[in-house]
Amino acid sequence: MSASPSRIVVALVLLAVAGVVTGAMVALPLTADPPDDGDAPAGGLAPDIVVITLDTTRADHLGSYGYFRSTSPTFDALARSSVLFEHLVVPMATTLPTHTSLFTGTWPAEHGILANVQHGGQKFLPSDGLTTLATWARGQGYQTAAFVSAAPLNHTSGIEAGFDVFDEPDRIERSGDKTADAALAWLGSAPVDQPMVFWVHFYDPHNPYTAPPRYGDFGEDGEVLDAWMDAHHVDKVTHRPTGGAVRAKPTINAYDAEIRFMDDQLARVLDGLRARGRFDDATLLVVMGDHGEGLNQHGEPGHGLVWGEQLHAPLLMRWPGAEPARNPTLLSAADVLPTALRRAPLPHVDGFLGQASGRDVLARDFQERPVLSQTSERQLQFGVSMTYALTGPALKCVWSQGESVQLWDLTADPYELAPLQDDPRAADCEVALTETLAVQQARGTQLGSGHTVPMSDAEIEALRALGYVGDDGGPGDGLVPEPEPKAEDAPAAPSAPEAP
Ligand SMILES: [Zn+2]
Repeated sequence: MSASPSRIVVALVLLAVAGVVTGAMVALPLTADPPDDGDAPAGGLAPDIVVITLDTTRADHLGSYGYFRSTSPTFDALARSSVLFEHLVVPMATTLPTHTSLFTGTWPAEHGILANVQHGGQKFLPSDGLTTLATWARGQGYQTAAFVSAAPLNHTSGIEAGFDVFDEPDRIERSGDKTADAALAWLGSAPVDQPMVFWVHFYDPHNPYTAPPRYGDFGEDGEVLDAWMDAHHVDKVTHRPTGGAVRAKPTINAYDAEIRFMDDQLARVLDGLRARGRFDDATLLVVMGDHGEGLNQHGEPGHGLVWGEQLHAPLLMRWPGAEPARNPTLLSAADVLPTALRRAPLPHVDGFLGQASGRDVLARDFQERPVLSQTSERQLQFGVSMTYALTGPALKCVWSQGESVQLWDLTADPYELAPLQDDPRAADCEVALTETLAVQQARGTQLGSGHTVPMSDAEIEALRALGYVGDDGGPGDGLVPEPEPKAEDAPAAPSAPEAP
């Protein structure tokens, strides 16, 4: 495919007519002009940049996004003093590629991280043409510290680039309280007269779901959950290709308990940030999910595919003087830093954002456009073609090589139950999808392969020593056995399971 911006414009115009792009220019109260690059920050000290990522967290399982359970009181309270983005669609339902998009402001086809490293993916290596937030910020005099909770983001992934302190578990994963402990210990002694990039990653909602039992009590709401499951077309039981039934109700109970547990750890980290004394006046905060979870929709308990429930993740941003709002703009992970970093006086930020393909979605001249998502390159190991999705506000199309495109009307069919038949807009969407992908791939080629390298034998061995040979893409890949135990079959929260 050849990149042709003019053809894309034509295709997008056609899609706008067809309804894939609504053309909605959202009037927002917060589209203030960004500070000029190079402005001296208030008080002479640049703001702290804090990123908290919530692994495997479905937006619609948080109260802020309408969930019926109190899974996220801390996130919800924070959202009330932030800008809550209602429509984040991540580029991949896979941990490392989406985090790399977040921290570089580029799409997977551009940065080249198309799978987790233990599944054959490349390791990110900063280059002159493409670097990470932490690498850039360290060059600006920032102290940089990261605290991650799982092997897909450990130091063999490349995501550690630019961090002075990079704290990771010594096993496949660790629970959020342990990660918060490490983060708070560092935060308590971090100099306050030096700005920081501070990243905390929580992994608790990822399978297996093993929250402490007290988090599994959501009261007598079983009938409400039944209704919720019916409304969301959740399969009551699914079967993994490798065997084993997954019952939806205990699975969702255990999953929700993990979110509730993680939310308490988020509260602890926020308390630590407030104790630092810069939270309200000099902190730029991003809280983002890296992808969702199937939870038996579309017959899929895990993640890795391009269904909406696996791509729709929570996102909020908060900066000094931010006016709280809910923002309906469709955006992707690549857009997050180009948006957030324009909300604070950051000297020389153009030098970093110049590499980004993502946009400032709060800029006055921003025009909403559909976003591209894709499956992991891990698929290819099993002879399964890559699948791509182009999501617009109203329509979504899905395309795999060698197969005809499928078109979905997200307004009439938000749970993607039945593709439209013989709809002429499908061809328009396919053109927009393939041309958008071609532009991203061309940029990836232009950037070259210098920013990705395979893991070394020693790094592979280190991962193997952790026992990390199985799942992150989860059963969404549909082809690889998962590690035992399977929380879905035997949820760890004793109070959580209910009869199917
Ligand atoms: Zn993840």
